[in-house]
Amino acid sequence: MKLISIVVPCYNEEKSIELFYSTVQPILEGIDYIDYEFIYVNDGSKDATEEKLKELSKLEMKVRYISFSRNFGKESAMLAGIEAAQGDAVILMDVDLQDPPDLLPQMIEDWFVEGFDVVYTRRSTRSGEPPIRSWFAKQFYKLINAISDVQIVDGARDYRLMDRKAVDSFLRIKERNRFAKGLFMWVGYKTKCIEFENVERAVGTSSWSFWKLVQYAIDGIVSFTISPLRWATYFGFLTASSAFLFMFYTIFKKILFGNAVSGYASIVTIILFFGGIQLIFLGIIGEYIGRIFIEVKARPNYIIKEQSSSSAKKVKGRHAVLKR
Ligand code: UDP
Ligand code: MG
Repeated sequence: MKLISIVVPCYNEEKSIELFYSTVQPILEGIDYIDYEFIYVNDGSKDATEEKLKELSKLEMKVRYISFSRNFGKESAMLAGIEAAQGDAVILMDVDLQDPPDLLPQMIEDWFVEGFDVVYTRRSTRSGEPPIRSWFAKQFYKLINAISDVQIVDGARDYRLMDRKAVDSFLRIKERNRFAKGLFMWVGYKTKCIEFENVERAVGTSSWSFWKLVQYAIDGIVSFTISPLRWATYFGFLTASSAFLFMFYTIFKKILFGNAVSGYASIVTIILFFGGIQLIFLGIIGEYIGRIFIEVKARPNYIIKEQSSSSAKKVKGRHAVLKR
């Protein structure tokens, strides 16, 4: 029988864990041609998430958990879960039930019967989200699709099923700065998209602040394209040539009309303008150098503090495992 691993990142989700399990488990139990396992990753929660997971994994044979030494972010939590997964397919799900569990039978069927290697989901609406956040999200997807090779669908969720082939390819990517949504697309394979209407969080609150999302967006762009660096070059050429034009203009003006000193205001404006532009492009270059710095240090993506004994044997590989 084929095994499906459900990978669930959790950060301060004490209220969601039981609800999630009691909703999703019966659905999986109802699909008789598969077996399943749950891998919860506690991403350094400050509440009782860890205790809840321990309890659940003691009660339920098919539940394992991994607990981080601190909060490493959702990307790292997903990575740890995917690395620990043993299934023939892996499904990523949020614990807050914003990823509708009723899509599971269809996703699994598309994989098992139709032979799709990747089945991802997309929110067709963003209802219930602050409009300003939706607007920024839209602009972000427009921008990243315009300037990078990888196409990321607007509203695509991390909620997805991946065949073992796609999982192994994903794990071969060794970069530290992981923008999973883009990496999954980059990996390729026979892919299907399922659309659904936005669902509000069951309990608790979102842990993504506006600034966290801005940083996430910058990470996404910087890790998938170097075209902002090219803009700097083009812009440099443009301003250099306009400087030449201006020089000729001044020379001819002097020859034709004699010397007339004026234009203090325009000079200050130009200085400020180019000062600003230079700082912006230095910042862009800095973003990339910063990434290089992080990649070169090659720190592990996460540190495991503790995990259920059944998963301890299984997480091997390049990441530090500190067991108590
Ligand atoms: N999450 C995580 N680490 C973090 C932030 C979030 O593992 O640092 C998990 C969280 O527990 C949830 C999922 O990622 O299962 C999505 O988070 P959230 O619902 O806060 O995001 P939103 O749905 O608002 O995008
Ligand atoms: Mg959520």
